[in-house]
This record gives sequence, structure tokens and C-alpha cells, in this order.
Amino acid sequence: MPDKLCPNGHGLVAVGKKLAHEELHFRPAKLYLERIYTTTYKCPSCELMDGLAHLIQSQAPKALIPLFHHVHIGHANV
Ligand SMILES: [Zn+2]
Repeated sequence: MPDKLCPNGHGLVAVGKKLAHEELHFRPAKLYLERIYTTTYKCPSCELMDGLAHLIQSQAPKALIPLFHHVHIGHANV
């Protein structure tokens, strides 16, 4: 599955995952958090060339609803 390529066109290898953000979901009377992770890849070909680790992070999908940002519940004073 060489769909992930380093800037030099080599196939990347996943080496780890990192928490990108958390998403809050609603189910009948239940809230649960879904954790979205990004994958970290390295390019073994570049590493062989210069001896340095070439780590590349995958893009995480954007959060649909930012977690409790400016949510007001209750009566407004008019
Ligand atoms: Zn490379």
C-alpha cells in the first residue's frame, strides 16, 4: 500500500500513532469520546542515505464540532 510517500518519492513505513484530537458524539442519552489518531511514518530509504530518521506525520481529519467551545446552556438575560 505505497500510498504514503516521502518528499523524495519513497514508500513510507508507519512507526507510531499520536493523538490528534478528541471528538464528542451523541447517542441516545449517551456521550462518548472518539479519539482520532494520526500515524507517524518514517522513510527507510532516506534513513539509509543520510543516517537520519525521516519522520512524516499523516494529516488527521478536522474535528466536526470543537469540544465545548462557546456553548451556553440556560437562560439569557435580556
Ligand atoms: Zn525518502
